[in-house]
Amino acid sequence: MSSFKDFSFAGKKALIRVDFNVPLNDAFEITDDNRMRATIPTITKILKDGGSVILMSHLGRPKDGPTEKYSLKHIVAHLSKLLNVEVQFANDCIGAEAMVKAAALQAGQVLLLENLRFYKEEEKGDIAFAEKLSKLGDVFVNDAFGTAHRAHASTAIIAQFFSPANRTFGWVMEGEVLSAEKVMHAAQKPFVAIIGGAKVSDKILIIENLLERATDIIIGGGMAYTFFKAQGGKIGKSIHEDDRMPLALEILAKAKAKGVHIHLPVDNVVADDFSNTANTQTCASGEIPDGWEGLDVGEKSREQFAKVILASKTILWNGPMGVFEMENFQAGTKAIAVAVAEATQNGAFSLVGGGDSVSAVNQFGFNDKVSYVSTGGGAMLEYFEGKTLPGIAAIKG
Ligand code: AMP
Repeated sequence: MSSFKDFSFAGKKALIRVDFNVPLNDAFEITDDNRMRATIPTITKILKDGGSVILMSHLGRPKDGPTEKYSLKHIVAHLSKLLNVEVQFANDCIGAEAMVKAAALQAGQVLLLENLRFYKEEEKGDIAFAEKLSKLGDVFVNDAFGTAHRAHASTAIIAQFFSPANRTFGWVMEGEVLSAEKVMHAAQKPFVAIIGGAKVSDKILIIENLLERATDIIIGGGMAYTFFKAQGGKIGKSIHEDDRMPLALEILAKAKAKGVHIHLPVDNVVADDFSNTANTQTCASGEIPDGWEGLDVGEKSREQFAKVILASKTILWNGPMGVFEMENFQAGTKAIAVAVAEATQNGAFSLVGGGDSVSAVNQFGFNDKVSYVSTGGGAMLEYFEGKTLPGIAAIKG
């Protein structure tokens, strides 16, 4: 598959699926434009090549067709400013207005279509709806990694109406796919996966998939307490899932059989209340007194985890080591960020993806110190679980 940068858009109308699902306040002002900014280089490259651009996106979750609150017209002015181009708008994503405006586009011009989800056909992956959309452009560009795990009309179904030579990933999507593939299919060993977060049940599929690929798996955060309880340890009132205890033991046994090293915390910062002002102490794992709960990994664990990370050539990080939203319980997650940054500087490839570890890395200012920070929460999680993402498969064919 050729790279987006080698694709020439001269004289072409590029129909781009973007993710402009940005938060708006009550005055319809954009409160976080990161998703828009991410796609600007893709759009600019096409315009510079001498192409024109038709943008399609969803916004929010409209239930009953067109709704003022979810109209993409609210973002036109800001998009024009970001692109330094007067962006045109079509009040519908299919139909006469969209067709006429798309047909009249000249090189260097940009048209934004109204919210795709004003049609229930979008999320249903309706083929006739996808075909109507496809008529608007000569080339289909998918730059919406955040929806790559959905087989929607504009993210996957539409691709069949373009020949392989006329469909491609945009820069956002390409960056996400290449990073994810590097970790999951071409990882240099040692490969450590750092898995944290609240629940084993949310991460079980990822861990099972990683048992086939990683050399080391660090398990931290709330999910570690299910493992300790399953092994007969005392966990006080720490978060845990009784019904997942057999699964936790199964993971440990499978890892042993496969020669994958599982690293659980050896000590924990425990608190007498789920609060930043709670009393705290450090306890060895499996020895947490009644009435106390583990809210972060302890100092010895941080040192051990850092050693494993610094010895690795490939690093995947999903999920915090503790309740990092509270200042007194963020040291464990911060220590991981520091170690991942150092390992990256030493030449390791590091990917941070899926949910709260991304927030943590951004919050601590480490986003430019790791190799790649994924923007696609749910999509990246499903990729790590080993699932085929319809948005990727449709472009690759
Ligand atoms: P996830 O979305 O599964 O990655 O989980 C992230 C959430 O897990 C964050 O909101 C953390 O505050 C929470 N978390 C991490 N460690 C703990 C813990 N020891 N006890 C309770 N919640 C935790």
